[in-house]
Amino acid sequence: KTFTDLGVCDKLVEACENLGWKTPSKIQAEAIPHALHGKDLIGLAQTGSGKTGAFVLPILQALLESQQAFFACVVSPTRELAIQIADQFKALGSGFGIKCAVLVGEEDIMEQYINLARLPHIIVGTPGRLVDHLSNTKGFSFHALKYLVLDEADCLLEDKFQKSIDEILDVVPRERKTYLFSATMTRKVQKLQRVCLRNPVKIEV
Ligand code: AMP
Repeated sequence: KTFTDLGVCDKLVEACENLGWKTPSKIQAEAIPHALHGKDLIGLAQTGSGKTGAFVLPILQALLESQQAFFACVVSPTRELAIQIADQFKALGSGFGIKCAVLVGEEDIMEQYINLARLPHIIVGTPGRLVDHLSNTKGFSFHALKYLVLDEADCLLEDKFQKSIDEILDVVPRERKTYLFSATMTRKVQKLQRVCLRNPVKIEV
């Protein structure tokens, strides 16, 4: 199957080709059609499977229809993963004017304020720093958020993140799409899934 067969729009198919993505990976082939039909997703997949593309493409496709600030937020347990995810959003989306801000700990907060003031469409961050900005940065909120992605959810459920994750879940709109990715399906992930997702489609690769 091609990206076009999955329902990906021509502009994004071209962006994929520019990155050398000729055919969808397995998780992309299974997840993207459901995502484009507006379903919530649970993806059980490892890094290297192309799982990032499986949520980046549907989010960008929705964003191309109506560009809006703070449209989607991806929560990542590590700064390295957050940066990699943001790089994929930028690689596929910057040709269409899509802006992405990375909000991770141990990085200059001033620069993050400046990036947020540019009204990015996509936010990728680690839990603690996301909550810092949500509580302290004027003009930044998730009132209008359309997509929430919880990446490496098994890691996001570690004790050290619990308070921040709860705070994020408290301020995201009920009407939204949610994608949860995890390497393993643990009890805690199942519980999170029940709290966060609505009739999700489960994809395992
Ligand atoms: P991920 O598992 O999302 O971290 O992706 C692993 C790597 O595979 C990244 O470097 C992506 O750029 C690359 N990748 C993702 N999807 C495709 C694809 N359909 N074809 C070729 N490479 C891809």
